[in-house]
Order: sequence, then C-alpha cells, then structure tokens
Amino acid sequence: MKHHAAPLTQPAAPPQGCPGMQARVFTNKPQAAQSSPQIAAQSELRQWPCQLRLVPAHAPYFDNAHLLIAADCSAFAYANIHQDFIKNKITLIGCPKLDDADYTEKLTQILSSHTIKSLTVLRMEVPCCGGLEHAAKQALINSAQMIPWRVVTISTDGRILED
Ligand code: SF4
Repeated sequence: MKHHAAPLTQPAAPPQGCPGMQARVFTNKPQAAQSSPQIAAQSELRQWPCQLRLVPAHAPYFDNAHLLIAADCSAFAYANIHQDFIKNKITLIGCPKLDDADYTEKLTQILSSHTIKSLTVLRMEVPCCGGLEHAAKQALINSAQMIPWRVVTISTDGRILED
C-alpha cells in the first residue's frame, strides 16, 4: 500500500495556453437514419507513403500532380475528406506540432523538382496547425513556382471555416 504524506488537493486546472489542447465534446452531431442504406466508403488515397516526413521528394507520382498537404487531425475531424480533398490528388500528411521535421525543406524539394499543377493546404483551426500553412507558403516562395494554391481551414467539430 502506498502512503502519501501530503493531503489530497484539487486536481490542477488544465493548461490555458494552447487552444489546440483544450478539451471539448461535440454533442450536436446528427444521428444517421436507421433506415438509410449503408454505402461503404472508398479510399481515394493514390500513393504510399503519405507521411510528409517519409515520402521521397523525387517520387515520379509528383509529376503533374495536384498536391494536398493535410494536417493529421483533418482526416479525423472532416468526415468526407476522401471525396472532397484526397480524390485525384497526391496526399501528404503531417503534424507541425508533434513531428520533428522541417516541412519547408522537403516541400521546397518537391515543388522545385516536379511540375505541380496545384497545391491545397488542409489545416485545422487551432493555432498549432499554422505551421503547416507557413511551411507550404515558404516552400512556394523558395521554389519560385507559380502554382495555384489554396488554404482550407477545418474546425475541430469538422466544418469548413475558410476556403
Ligand atoms: S498541429 Fe494540427 S495536426 Fe498537429 S495536433 Fe495540432 S491540429 Fe492536429
């Protein structure tokens, strides 16, 4: 048996600093109708690996690709990500908060050594995810490529906030 010398105290308040770590529950999700037919969703992923850290920058599938750079969390927050974003694109994923990697360097290599048709950044609304957008923009600048690009921001409850 363990003996504690100090008296029990209230648990510490959760950290206030980072909105990305704020705990919350989504209670207003629509329920699927019981009678609706279940259609199996299909993966639209076109290449492997998809982790930005692992993908080889000179892989031939980047030639003439529409490129999607998606935050890890976006695939779980946004239900229709395969049909709305991954379909017909080469998809790279990463987490700028937890990955120990320089995305800018890898993305600059990819943009510089291939003809990329378009670039879509899919990030979460929380500030920690801004690193993904920043890396993509910096890679566009570094590679001096004139590529159509857009940033789409997903809310933590799975809505498109900005496009
Ligand atoms: S940085 Fe983006 S992908 Fe990483 S934990 Fe935060 S929201 Fe998720």
